[in-house]
Amino acid sequence: MDFLPIFLNIRERACLVVGGGSVAERKVSLLLDAGARVTIVSPELCPGLRELHEQGTIDYRKGQYSEDDLSGKALIIAATDDRSVNESISAWANQHNVPVNVVDNPDLCSFIMPSIIDRSPVQIAVSTGGSSPVLARTLRSKLESMIPSAYGRLGELMEEFRDRAKQVFSSVDERRYFWERILSGPIVEMVMAGQDERARVYLKQEFEAAQNQQLHDTGEVYLVGAGPGDPDLLTFRALRLMQQADVVVYDRLVSKQILDLVRRDAERIYVGKERSKHAVPQEDINHLLARLGKEGKKVCRLKGGDPFIFGRGGEEIDTLMQQGVPFQVVPAVTAASGAASYAGIPLTHRDYSQSVVFATGHLKDGSMNLNWEGLAQPNQTIVFYMGLQGLEVICRELIAHGMPADTPVALVQKATTPEQKVVTGTLETMPDAVKNSNIKPPTLIIVGNVVQLHERLNWFEH
Ligand code: SAH
Repeated sequence: MDFLPIFLNIRERACLVVGGGSVAERKVSLLLDAGARVTIVSPELCPGLRELHEQGTIDYRKGQYSEDDLSGKALIIAATDDRSVNESISAWANQHNVPVNVVDNPDLCSFIMPSIIDRSPVQIAVSTGGSSPVLARTLRSKLESMIPSAYGRLGELMEEFRDRAKQVFSSVDERRYFWERILSGPIVEMVMAGQDERARVYLKQEFEAAQNQQLHDTGEVYLVGAGPGDPDLLTFRALRLMQQADVVVYDRLVSKQILDLVRRDAERIYVGKERSKHAVPQEDINHLLARLGKEGKKVCRLKGGDPFIFGRGGEEIDTLMQQGVPFQVVPAVTAASGAASYAGIPLTHRDYSQSVVFATGHLKDGSMNLNWEGLAQPNQTIVFYMGLQGLEVICRELIAHGMPADTPVALVQKATTPEQKVVTGTLETMPDAVKNSNIKPPTLIIVGNVVQLHERLNWFEH
């Protein structure tokens, strides 16, 4: 280890920056974030620093630095482009044991500045020991995207309860055990979902339960949208919840690749429905989820696409709500967005379509109970879910309600997956075109003039 990573408290301490350019400005802003009193010495100031000085946020002494400027400082940063100036500042600081950083000159530094992921009070610092700041920044952006900003609020919440923990648990081990249990429970997800007040109430209850010696685990149901198929389209939250579930309850539309991302040890329950062959009735699924949650399990209810678009997610959480089982809903890319993007068919377009409607094309007793007049509007895109069997009825009804028979139609099979296939035609030709192709569900039907763009904008299948 070439450097000792430490976090320095410089709140209200006097710090000096020598140099007044944009590099100095970036350092000044970090020092200010950490609460330091900053003085700058430089013959000139860049506009940003000038503004800070005019606001009274920093002190400024115009001119070349002198030893008077250096003395009495808790920390010094040299950000000039004159090597000999930097060298003498570094020499003075080392002689007087003041931490010194010389920008872009690791050999003159007694400390180096890391790349920072700031989730105050949580801080993560990344350093490559000065060997490659670009590598440090690349790592930083990876970490930024992996660590949700809500970790900061989680840190604050735990800080709020620190004294309470000391009162309730006399030993360090007991405290550690308690916090470990809390952090592997639902509270993390509550904070991630922005439900801080719920998390606070939960934490209070946990403290009370701990005081009464009745620790217990509460279950929770995560109603998670898994998107249209491509695992890359999962949300961070979906992935996180999939990886901490005890049980996953999933549908036919959830692909194997996505299922492989669920925590390895989680129990897997298939409740998939095939057309007119209901594997598990919806009512039973609702009760299954409630029962698992009450058993204290973390249940990931994984559904294709978005749970609230033709997903019956509303019915599932209704039961959970009635039975007092905590839950949360994670939205996802719905099949219409996935199919449209990957088929190069924008659902709206200035020239062709000013509105878009999602409709179910599910056939019931050979017909479809839809507001055909409302659907058959000019300059509107209609997306039919579950419409493969009913395609003929859809095309016939739209024509009967005034849509031109040559309105373009696309049928997208297994959108966003390697098996994606797009068949295009018109309201008139589409039923035959599909009959003669070897199309497999799931498929989505897009009707409207935007479909013309497919030929030009198709980027995915080549
Ligand atoms: N909640 C889902 C929809 C469930 S209804 C969502 O938001 O996407 C099931 C219908 O969704 C299927 O019949 C089909 O029309 C459509 N669908 C789901 N995934 C699809 C995919 N990858 N490609 C094409 N259509 C899909």
